[in-house]
Amino acid sequence: MQHKAFLLVFLTLFVKLTLSAQPDRWQQRVDYHMDIDMDAAKHQFKGKQTLKYTNNSPDELDRVFFHLYFNAFQPGSNMDVRSLNLPDPDGRVKDRISKLKPDEYGWHKINSLKMDGKACKYEVNETILEVELPKSIKPNSTVTFEMDFNSQVPLQIRRSGWNSADGIEFSMSQWYPKICEYDYQGWHANPYVAREFYGVWGDFDVNITIDRKYILGASGILQNGGNIGYGYEPEGTAMRPEKGDKFTWHWKAENVHDFAWTADPDYKHVVYKRKDGLVFHFLYEDNDKTHKTWEAAPAQMDKAFDYVNEHFGQFPYKAYSFLEGGDGGMEYPMATFLAGGAGIGTFIHESLHAWFYGLLGSNESLYAWMDEGFTEYATAEVENYLKQEGIIGGKPDDSPHLDANNTLIRFNKAGREEPLSIHADHFTTNAAYSVAAYIKGHVLLHELQYIMGKPVFDKAMLTYFNTWKFKHPNANDFIRIMEKESGLELDWFKEYFVYTTKTIDYGIKSVEKANRKETKVVLERIGLMPMPLDVTVTLKDGKKHIYNIPLDIMRGAKKGTEFTGDKYTVLPDWRWTHPTYGFTLDEKYKNISRIEIDASQRLLDVDRDNNGWGKKAGEKDEED
Ligand SMILES: [Zn+2]
Repeated sequence: MQHKAFLLVFLTLFVKLTLSAQPDRWQQRVDYHMDIDMDAAKHQFKGKQTLKYTNNSPDELDRVFFHLYFNAFQPGSNMDVRSLNLPDPDGRVKDRISKLKPDEYGWHKINSLKMDGKACKYEVNETILEVELPKSIKPNSTVTFEMDFNSQVPLQIRRSGWNSADGIEFSMSQWYPKICEYDYQGWHANPYVAREFYGVWGDFDVNITIDRKYILGASGILQNGGNIGYGYEPEGTAMRPEKGDKFTWHWKAENVHDFAWTADPDYKHVVYKRKDGLVFHFLYEDNDKTHKTWEAAPAQMDKAFDYVNEHFGQFPYKAYSFLEGGDGGMEYPMATFLAGGAGIGTFIHESLHAWFYGLLGSNESLYAWMDEGFTEYATAEVENYLKQEGIIGGKPDDSPHLDANNTLIRFNKAGREEPLSIHADHFTTNAAYSVAAYIKGHVLLHELQYIMGKPVFDKAMLTYFNTWKFKHPNANDFIRIMEKESGLELDWFKEYFVYTTKTIDYGIKSVEKANRKETKVVLERIGLMPMPLDVTVTLKDGKKHIYNIPLDIMRGAKKGTEFTGDKYTVLPDWRWTHPTYGFTLDEKYKNISRIEIDASQRLLDVDRDNNGWGKKAGEKDEED
């Protein structure tokens, strides 16, 4: 290579690495081909899996792991014993696993496993298959695993199984031997205890052979729908193959990290084509429980997707399926399982997981809040929009995120909150997991909206999606995007909010006449977590003046773009170590009607009683 050419290549590489350092973090790649032959009456199937596995890591791998999720559904399993010992077990699990009979168990039996034609040594350790490779997998190389297995589908206990509470015959999620993810943090061979999921990005090509009476729904796109008229009949007539005892349904899902499917003989299938070409599939048993919601859902979800595409990022796939199945709402790539009686709020929540989980594929065991919490935040925004437009029922709310703040404060005051940084299976109670993942994750975005200002925050959420879709973002990746978009340092916010349960409490300490023209205000920090403040000063003539007090450790201040109508002033930094902060208002003491910390009520302040001084709105002024 010539020197000049070398320099050019070197410079190009250097520029590429510098510009896109983090989002280009390596990730493994899978390409699954599976042939599944169902014996529906016995709830069993034979499986052949050919898995091309590409090691993009800089490491040589001498072993790999697979999830064998069905093995959780046997008495004495980790899932069973954990549920029996929790103070607040999930009502769907409780002691149900301990009471399963052998023909209701779930299991996978691995008959053979080869890598590039050579037999692997392996050991089944309940829900994890530990595999010793005949030869290590070199960095940047691809190997092919061939697995032959038999499985028994469990009686439906949690998420997957046969005979769901709604009577759906097969809810098939976490249903095949799935290779564990290996990333910059190493292997993630977590046993299946309760939650939740993390998978390798790649392509799925799945043939499911099953009795012809069944209608199937799945992640991905049916390849041979033409044979059975499946796919584009808006009337939703029941479709099934005409001839033969069994039919093979051929599905493909590309650039996803999991594949799920459902089957029932009594499904109604409604197809809804959106203007942008995306096709919705709704599969459900049409009855009193489902009829009203599922009939209205296609048009409502169409409007919801319009809003989400604009505000949280463009949905990139060609199909999305709403499948009645499982035991509630549970998300999978390109599809969701829903209980028959699900309300429209659940349809919205679960489909938003197509963004926060399906496309932003964070490790849900470690960052459940980036999946559930962000979904909850977006659900509140979408629902509020749909209410404003009269597309769904209910009254729109000026502060759609306030309930989440108040719930978290109550839970914290009860002494039950645990930090977001705990692995999803290791919280002391199910309630602490739920509040952390669903509520505190939601509140985390609400607080960032407050710190950054809504217009800046909204744009940053789009940048987050566009930078990290089809990847595995973690907490740092997310915060880095927020920092770049706001121009603020936010590491302190992440440290307090993710790793601790410390609380925020600010108060107005004193308001005094400074001289004939000015007023002196002293604020105090009572809680341990520092935050920037917006202080609204309302004058007796009704005019408002908003003062923003940044924290010194933010190295900047929020742009005042969200306070368009009112006068806005950025005050000097509040140094986080200092318990009090004083400033002088350029207003006569007698002209001030009210001073309030965070009039927007977004700040997660655990005691709002000390946030205001003077008359509350509606209170009559005294004569002076
Ligand atoms: Zn969820």
